[in-house]
Amino acid sequence: SKSGGRNAISFFQPFMQEAADQRLKIEQDLRMAIEKEGFMLFYQPQVDHTGVMIGAEVLIRWDHPEQGIVSPADFILVAEESSLILDIGLWVLKNTCQQIRTWLAMGITVPRLSFNVSSRQFRQREFVDQIKNAISETQIPPHLLGIELTESVMIIDIADTVAKMKALKSLGVSIAVDDFGTGYSSLAYLKSLPLDVLKIDRSFVGDILLDSNDAIIIETIISMARHLRLRVVAEGVETEEQFELLKKLGCLLFQGYYFSRPLPSVNFAQKYLRSAKS
Ligand code: C2E
Ligand code: CA
Ligand code: CA
Ligand code: CA
Repeated sequence: SKSGGRNAISFFQPFMQEAADQRLKIEQDLRMAIEKEGFMLFYQPQVDHTGVMIGAEVLIRWDHPEQGIVSPADFILVAEESSLILDIGLWVLKNTCQQIRTWLAMGITVPRLSFNVSSRQFRQREFVDQIKNAISETQIPPHLLGIELTESVMIIDIADTVAKMKALKSLGVSIAVDDFGTGYSSLAYLKSLPLDVLKIDRSFVGDILLDSNDAIIIETIISMARHLRLRVVAEGVETEEQFELLKKLGCLLFQGYYFSRPLPSVNFAQKYLRSAKS
């Protein structure tokens, strides 16, 4: 506060203690959830300009015994500060593959499912092997899997990133840059990495009708992506007006509440998946 350092400190100390206690509680509850399989996966469709689904993003939810469904915004950061994120990440990978396996066994056509990978998980030496193992244990076609990584994760160790991405690409797993445009990194890395998709961050999409700079940024990203032969997905599309303007700017793929919220597997399958036979 403006009233001086002393006051600010005495004001913030109890608050910080509370925050620390709260984090400890979340950590303990997360440990329990990992043991008891207390997580769920939701699926949000990605569509083309006609609204036809071309893939889906996998988003974790925590089914907390007291709080109900907890959003990842409320626990991923805590998990990332400990090694819990590694267990959670592995659970997401395995369960995504198992879900694909289950749907395929039911005769259902499955689109590509992309899941989020956090920094510590990607930097692990065994990351690529974990994906290989999950694919071979479930015997799913690898091209049904995709990963989403933020720019900041990719540029920490470019040589390691390139090696891992090449290994994943040779399996058939697709790679997307998440929250594209929010990092402060140079764009040079784009041409040295074997990427498939840029996901335009929803902060640009949200203001696209209000702020002409955001429209210009999006147009620039789209034309750059075209030259680099990358697909572009606009995230966080909430209104028809945003959808229409994005199409005018040359965007081909979309994701957001306007099309669908993330859905539990059963609802997602009912609404978006069809039997391969019919
Ligand atoms: P993200 O990867 O950028 O995922 C997109 C987020 O935007 C999701 O929030 C999604 O529900 C939300 N969203 C989708 N459409 C719209 C829209 O039209 N408007 C608005 N306002 N939001 C929209 P969610 O599911 O709460 O996930 C938040 C973040 O948590 C994700 O952001 C991702 O960074 C992280 N996360 C989610 N699942 C996982 C996971 O399995 N592993 C890891 N490491 N992180 C995850
Ligand atoms: Ca994502
Ligand atoms: Ca995103
Ligand atoms: Ca994000």
